[in-house]
Amino acid sequence: MARVLIIGAGGVGKVVTHKCAQRTDVFSDICLASRRVEKCDQIAAALSRKIETVQLDADNVGETIALLDRFKPNLVINVALPYQDLAIMDACLASGVDYLDTANYEPPDEARFCYAWQWDYHERFRDAGLMALLGSGFDPGVTNVFCAWAKKHHFDEIHELDIIDCNAGDHGLPFATNFNPEINIREVSAKGKYFDSGKWIETDPLSVSKTYDFPEGIGPKKIYLMYHEELESLVRHMPEIRQARFWMTFSDNYLKHLEVLENIGMTRIDPVNYEGREIVPLKFLKALLPDPGSLGAVTKGRTCIGCLIKGVKDGREKQYYIYNICDHQTAYREVGSQAISYTTGVPAMIGAMMMVKGLWKQAGVYNMEQFDPDPFMEALNEYGLPWTEIFL
Ligand code: NDP
Repeated sequence: MARVLIIGAGGVGKVVTHKCAQRTDVFSDICLASRRVEKCDQIAAALSRKIETVQLDADNVGETIALLDRFKPNLVINVALPYQDLAIMDACLASGVDYLDTANYEPPDEARFCYAWQWDYHERFRDAGLMALLGSGFDPGVTNVFCAWAKKHHFDEIHELDIIDCNAGDHGLPFATNFNPEINIREVSAKGKYFDSGKWIETDPLSVSKTYDFPEGIGPKKIYLMYHEELESLVRHMPEIRQARFWMTFSDNYLKHLEVLENIGMTRIDPVNYEGREIVPLKFLKALLPDPGSLGAVTKGRTCIGCLIKGVKDGREKQYYIYNICDHQTAYREVGSQAISYTTGVPAMIGAMMMVKGLWKQAGVYNMEQFDPDPFMEALNEYGLPWTEIFL
């Protein structure tokens, strides 16, 4: 039985809290902390068991240490924003608590995501006998575990990997992002990047696309090449990979709005002077856009996220596709959130469960593909994200 501190009461935080609260046999005590305690209280009010809620500015390491020393969790699940990752890791080191997140650190003033900052903590976590599990969402997260599963059970070597993320859902609004608008727009408007023959190749944002025919009636959709953080850890931990790419679907409507917002400077992340005070246009835009946590009630359709893998087994070439389909309305009925928050929050709970049960336990900083995929894959089927594999 474990005590868990969840930081961040947004769309993903809501799902993680619901899912941890369901597992009374694993998580004995839950504390939900976020910048605004009223958001924690709203989530807590919908649960069938009592949890503690706390106001916390996780950028303030001292404040987080004080909470950790008082609540004494076994594990922190960080589902605040990527900006808080290092501050929360520092607090975990100071208080001797294990750490888990779903997105890698990003400096607020630079739209650049890479694992270097967090991998740098490996020796400190190892020497303290603590574990940090990075990227336990869907992508990164389940996609990494899909690769580890494919490697363990179906391939001797993975040579080509395409991670394909499709949101075939629709919220009916003119423009809304399905997770934090600031993080989403930073990610989508960044340059694309993929790995090929030992080198990283950069592409202009959303300049490479093709059509992919998704299974189970979702059908053909246009997919766009982007950079995504799990590519970095996967090519490091599976050095036989020759090509690794990440693709995502976007509706024409989303792209049209994004283009206009970029053209008029609303996606800028540098401060501009407005009537005597500094504002960051993208942060202001976030304040205007719908809260992704509010989209659950109106989003219909399904997501389909998976890995298309080519490689060799017993000297023969092989192609394989593994995916999950998640229905927005089914997720909403269970936890009051749409499928994007659901597909991130469920793996965060499962990753936490792997750690506190000791199934995944090693001192240091780790990515998901570094552990035995089997118990995690079994838990996906059990806790709401069943997967399917196709041998092509
Ligand atoms: P939201 O913006 O909905 O939620 C973030 C929450 O963190 C908000 O409640 C926010 O407070 C709180 N927060 C922000 N700053 C602080 C701080 N300094 N101290 C304490 N709390 C703070 O985002 P999402 O729930 O959509 O996303 C959460 C995380 O999940 C992000 O890191 C995102 O990148 C990641 N993610 C990962 C995915 C994956 O598959 N791996 C997919 C989707 C998201 P407030 O409510 O006051 O703004």
